[in-house]
Amino acid sequence: MVTTIEVEDTITVGALAERLMIPVTRLITELMKNGVMATVNERIDFDTAQIITQELGLDVELKAGADKTLPLRREKPKASAKATIRPPVVAVMGHVDHGKTSLLDAIRGSSVAAKEAGGITQHISAYQIEHNGRPITFLDTPGHEAFASIREHGAQLTDIVILVVAADDGVKPQTIEAIRYAINAGVKIIVAINKIDKEGADPNRIKQQLSEHNLLVEEWGGDTVVLTLSAKTGQGVNELLDMVLLVADVEDLKADVDVPARGLVIEAHVEVGRGPVATALVESGILKPGQFVVAGATYAKVRNLETPDGKPLKQAGPSTPVSITGFKTLPEFGDEFIAVSSERLARAQAETAASERHTTSNREITSGELLKLINRSHELSELNLIVKADVQGSLTSVIDSLSALNTEEVAVRIVSSGIGAITDNNLRLSMTTGAKIYGFNVIAPSTIRQQAVRDRIELHLYNVIYELIDDVKAELEKLLLPQVVETDLGNLIIRGIFNTTKANVICGGEVTTGKLSLPALARVKRGKELIMEAELTNLKRGPTDVKEINAGEMCGLSLKTASRLDLELGDRLEVFRREVKQRHL
Ligand code: GDP
Repeated sequence: MVTTIEVEDTITVGALAERLMIPVTRLITELMKNGVMATVNERIDFDTAQIITQELGLDVELKAGADKTLPLRREKPKASAKATIRPPVVAVMGHVDHGKTSLLDAIRGSSVAAKEAGGITQHISAYQIEHNGRPITFLDTPGHEAFASIREHGAQLTDIVILVVAADDGVKPQTIEAIRYAINAGVKIIVAINKIDKEGADPNRIKQQLSEHNLLVEEWGGDTVVLTLSAKTGQGVNELLDMVLLVADVEDLKADVDVPARGLVIEAHVEVGRGPVATALVESGILKPGQFVVAGATYAKVRNLETPDGKPLKQAGPSTPVSITGFKTLPEFGDEFIAVSSERLARAQAETAASERHTTSNREITSGELLKLINRSHELSELNLIVKADVQGSLTSVIDSLSALNTEEVAVRIVSSGIGAITDNNLRLSMTTGAKIYGFNVIAPSTIRQQAVRDRIELHLYNVIYELIDDVKAELEKLLLPQVVETDLGNLIIRGIFNTTKANVICGGEVTTGKLSLPALARVKRGKELIMEAELTNLKRGPTDVKEINAGEMCGLSLKTASRLDLELGDRLEVFRREVKQRHL
């Protein structure tokens, strides 16, 4: 029977799980599989809730409820009639090694190679190029982040996704993940079949695979734009950029400029001598140095306004990626920033946001906390973890999703979390706390990896968030006390006793009910009294060993006992099977 449940226009993940009567972790995992990174307290919209409920295969129908007083999700600032054309914001996504970095490099030209000389890779999370005299903004954040913010903040950051698929490899898990993100977010997809210069490149095979994942190419009657190119030779890259501008024109992308500047923080880190530095994308209005901006729980008087690769800007309009210094504390990925008229207002808004927010920040554990941790009583089994991620946004996503796995019986305990590669410090902390190290989109230098192997430290690195979550979940499940399941097989009455030793009885009997088979245990009963529990080690029909004996049949059997069992004729055996099953979260 299908149950109908009323749901508001937006509902928190936790509340939805409660109404669906399923564990919240199951809901979060399903959301992730569909490309929605949402944590327990985040809101998802009705459509998402409905799709996920269907995907879960529950006999539940969601009905849009009447609660219209809840704020609807924030759309990208709506453009008014006065709005002007803005550049498209493009994200490049695809499976690892399919050529995303190479393509972005090819698009940016040689400037990157020069910057990365000396082995220091300055990760630049967004930049703008010009093509045919028109700007295009590229986001170089891990794909899921560009979309995570859509759900967290209702803001649409990206207009177009370039989906890179290597012609010699084909559609792979992260390709599918990217397709889900883009489709869920309603973003235009341009497929770039890369590595076309390679032998064995087969674009038709890729198009076929894409069609199996809801992307039907134009030439086959669909509406997905597909181009072939080589990031290595540069062949096809200009045509790709032409196509980006064409799609942008069709989409008629506009934004207002005569409004207070607002946008989203897409990356934030601390630089020695400069303090917190945020990379942000302006969505509307014009941002200028000296303005006050609030971003989440912090604010800034914009000190330096620069392109993300460090060129000073006098002002920045819609779709411009900028680097901002002057923040009091580190803003978070996905924070919306908005220009306000005074410092007083900026501080007040940031303080209100701070008191509402429970922030997960970088921290190493103190020795006092460590002691507490070690001495904790064990009613709750905990899995100690050290979590590292590439940027604050993904770190928060990972930590929130991991915390959502907690139950009354098992829980993750994050002894340390932080941004960046796995370090010596992480290994040391792992040695003292026994924590397993999980990294998302970060590297571990080979010396660290070798040391981890030497010290038997568990170190796991991931590029796909739900694979990390699934693995931690499996670890947590190992901590759950296993479930013991007993299945009754049948009953038997002892009709003959042939040999009794300290640890064994060979006897015969008649099966009165059920069907006996091995392996099996037996409760030996005399009247109502339980004499002993024994193990059935052998079943015979006449002289032959058999696998099964049915009700009504006579059989011979061997019982293995813990101590001598003086069986009597007429004793009854309740035969059952005991299985120890791993429980699941
Ligand atoms: P990402 O993991 O998606 O960023 O992939 P990379 O850009 O790092 O590329 C992975 C590997 O594929 C590198 O060794 C590149 O040199 C190579 N590669 C990328 N694009 C092409 C291409 O068009 N042709 C060929 N032959 N190799 C390519």
